[in-house]
Amino acid sequence: MDSTTKTAEIVAEGEHLIASFGTEICGPTLLVFGGIHGNETAGIRAVRRVAKKISALEPRLSGRVYLFAGNTRALQKGVRFIDIDLNRHWTDANITRNDPGSHLPPQFSEDREQMELLAAILPILDSARGEVYALDLHSTSAEGVPFATVGDTMRNRRFATSLPVTILLGIEEQLEGTLLEYLNNIGAVTMGFEGGQHYAESTVNTHESLVWLAMERAGIIAWRDVPDAEYHAQVVKNATGKPEILEIRYRHAIAEEDAFTMHPGYENFQLIEKDEHLADDRIGAVRARESGVILMPLYQKLGEDGFFIGRRIRPFWLWLSAVLRSLHIADLMHFLPGVHRTDRGREVLRVDTKVARFFPLQVFHLLGFRKLRWAGESLIVSRRKHDIESPFKDRG
Ligand SMILES: [Zn+2]
Repeated sequence: MDSTTKTAEIVAEGEHLIASFGTEICGPTLLVFGGIHGNETAGIRAVRRVAKKISALEPRLSGRVYLFAGNTRALQKGVRFIDIDLNRHWTDANITRNDPGSHLPPQFSEDREQMELLAAILPILDSARGEVYALDLHSTSAEGVPFATVGDTMRNRRFATSLPVTILLGIEEQLEGTLLEYLNNIGAVTMGFEGGQHYAESTVNTHESLVWLAMERAGIIAWRDVPDAEYHAQVVKNATGKPEILEIRYRHAIAEEDAFTMHPGYENFQLIEKDEHLADDRIGAVRARESGVILMPLYQKLGEDGFFIGRRIRPFWLWLSAVLRSLHIADLMHFLPGVHRTDRGREVLRVDTKVARFFPLQVFHLLGFRKLRWAGESLIVSRRKHDIESPFKDRG
């Protein structure tokens, strides 16, 4: 990498909005984020390329596009984060704390980042009168096939499956406080994208091509107006291979004191067997809880996820859950023995697993719930918000 590319990819402190295009609030809105993790500069380089080419096309856009840099202070230093992971920081408590109106002094560098991002994002969401899409570009320390991470709402599924990418469902159940989970709960259609290895040039290419395809799928630009549309479709197809849909089954959470070391040579989507010796930590061997495919094995120092285990979902289950959700079966679940409403209203249920032994988590997944936590013998699940209908479209 020569010094000009290096300078071009760095953003100034607090300068989150790299570029924006289009003003039509009744059309769709697309927010693209790069560098929420400051060591992942490929996303920033990709959106800069898009920004250069898109300005000439602006009169033909039927919606709005906003290109954002995530953790600007971490991007400047080339580190994942300064004090705390910005992509685990979007919890209700932090959002309230860092609301532009709260005027609380930031405790962490990432509080400042979040305050600035909220100040930039909230007016865009407030003014939207059409569907809102959010795309978050990431990269991984290990080599491997790119893939999309998708919170399991029907609207997210529809958007993600319109793109030629492998989809990983249910990541939001494993990670608290991601930017996309926050935007998803507000009502945006969201998709995360792991574009490849942090420093590979191909990652920048794949990210750029995906942004063009996402703009077209969101209905902001016509296929004939996308510069080199066929080329971009081919780049994404070649990088991701045959699209599949997987669910996350397990996350191996780690802390710094665990001294977690992944065994070398694992790549995304590599098949693993139950009990396979995957890594070592302070206590000894870390073995696979179940067989499946390994995802995002950690080969860098900073991070809270050692690896994930995923499993392919058969099309029948996807079809069944779409049918059940469209029938609003979830509204009736609290009539079943052992299933109770909570004081958080009809969205959050407590499942007494001693009584409701036949309703394991998978059934609630099918119906559009996510696991919140276990409380003794009880499983607490909450309904994913805005599963089927957009809150933006009917604001008129
Ligand atoms: Zn990342």
